[in-house]
Amino acid sequence: MSADNLTPAGEASRPKVVVIGGGFAGIAVVRELRDSDAEVTLVDRNNHHLFQPFLFQVATSILEPAQIATPIRSLVGDMPNVRVEMREAKRVDISRRVVVMAEGVDLPYDVLVIATGAQTSYFGHESEWAQHALGLKTLGDAVAARNRLLTAFERAEMEPDPGKQARDMTVVAVGGGPTGVAITGTISEFVHRTLPADFRNIDVRRARILLVEAGPRLLPAFSERHSSYATRALERAGVEVRLGVPVTHVDAAGVTIGEERIEAGTVLWCTGVQGVALARTLGTNVKANGTVAVEKDFSVPGHPDCFVVGDAAYVVGPDGRPLPGLASVAQHQGRYVGKLIAARLLGTAVPTPPEPFVPSKVATITRHVGIAEYRDRSITGFPAWLMWGLLHLRTLSGGHSKVSILANWVRLLITYRRSARLIVEQPSTTAVAAPPSTGSLRSDDGEPVRLKAAGSSEQPDPAIAQRRGDV
Ligand SMILES: Cc1cc2nc3c(=O)[nH]c(=O)nc-3n(C[C@H](O)[C@H](O)[C@H](O)COP(=O)(O)OP(=O)(O)OC[C@H]3O[C@@H](n4cnc5c(N)ncnc54)[C@H](O)[C@@H]3O)c2cc1C
Repeated sequence: MSADNLTPAGEASRPKVVVIGGGFAGIAVVRELRDSDAEVTLVDRNNHHLFQPFLFQVATSILEPAQIATPIRSLVGDMPNVRVEMREAKRVDISRRVVVMAEGVDLPYDVLVIATGAQTSYFGHESEWAQHALGLKTLGDAVAARNRLLTAFERAEMEPDPGKQARDMTVVAVGGGPTGVAITGTISEFVHRTLPADFRNIDVRRARILLVEAGPRLLPAFSERHSSYATRALERAGVEVRLGVPVTHVDAAGVTIGEERIEAGTVLWCTGVQGVALARTLGTNVKANGTVAVEKDFSVPGHPDCFVVGDAAYVVGPDGRPLPGLASVAQHQGRYVGKLIAARLLGTAVPTPPEPFVPSKVATITRHVGIAEYRDRSITGFPAWLMWGLLHLRTLSGGHSKVSILANWVRLLITYRRSARLIVEQPSTTAVAAPPSTGSLRSDDGEPVRLKAAGSSEQPDPAIAQRRGDV
């Protein structure tokens, strides 16, 4: 069945639309197909739709995982033509029009939408650095980061050696994009305002929080004025900002930036994004960073029945630069492709491809300070933070979550209290490993010591890209 001839001719020949990925783009596609005659299969390796913009709030004990994730089945429960399959898609065989699943099973399609998002890139150092510098992409990553942070302070409380105590009370975040800025501002407030009352032996106020950025300024997608504003706001909150220094080494006991060694109990990786492996298997129009260059209607060139949307797609914006990986961009693309497929099914006029979506730029810095740029307007401080919060809450699924998140934020604003200060036991593969007890970072033969540490995130392909991280 060709893409231009999808009009259903009875139950037996209902067109099969397969959507891989239940993120922002995939769910937007499916919603547009709810009233269509298509037999829609939504495949995701997880059972939940994740609101990634709030991952840092789970990592910093403000929110619980359940507040930022919704079961995919509940999102499509009222769509009888949509079937959900929780499994991993391994490969697309575009010539046979099938998606090959991890178990080796073929899933045939008439129309395919790839909405598999992006994953963390360690710029070719995945095998050495990923286990020590936690990425922030999945719910598991956020819980692992929270565990690592809280465990380091628990260790410090019992540590007699002042040097090791200082190491355990040091947090380094790598990457001065929105996630690095938000997480260091939030951790600094957490550590300097919330935690001191919890500990008896250590003075938590002496903890060091560092944000390391290889480029010359934070938040390069924002104006220079706003970059400076963010730097000053972080420094006021107690964050040490290091600009123009690339990370050259990461191990279980800290990081090396340029020539400087920083011992740290917690290292977070907030930079580096690449397309997910599945998109690469298309074998056509794949960019070096694993994203797929698409036509204006988001179809793969030469394959009008195969679409790539969201973070997995490479789309150039009006300024000639690739569009940033943002939830609003993914939703916009997903909605259009859903409408396009629905129109083809009905045989009605196909909507004109949209102009590239230009999102407003918003970033949060601390619990009540943000920056926002929209067209020629710019806002800073609490109004910008409010705009950040409201824009994101609007995108979040589920009224209950919105109310409970608002309640947590209001409590945080008034009292600095955070209830989600739990270290959650993880399977032994993700057990927290203490840094070397000798304080030495090298073995006798001079090799760096590498320990398996908490919650290693998924191991991405070694391909290198930085798309969302610098937005
Ligand atoms: C820490 C962080 C902070 C962010 N902050 C913001 C922000 O403040 N504002 C903003 O607008 N955006 C933000 N983003 C970006 C935003 O979350 C993404 O742009 C958006 O999620 C992209 O949507 P998507 O549908 O393309 O992919 P995703 O939402 O990532 O969804 C992809 C889905 O595909 C599934 N999947 C992947 N591979 C497979 C496979 N092989 N088989 C089956 N399923 C698969 C995944 O499980 C996932 O559910 C942030 C992202 C992160 C990580």
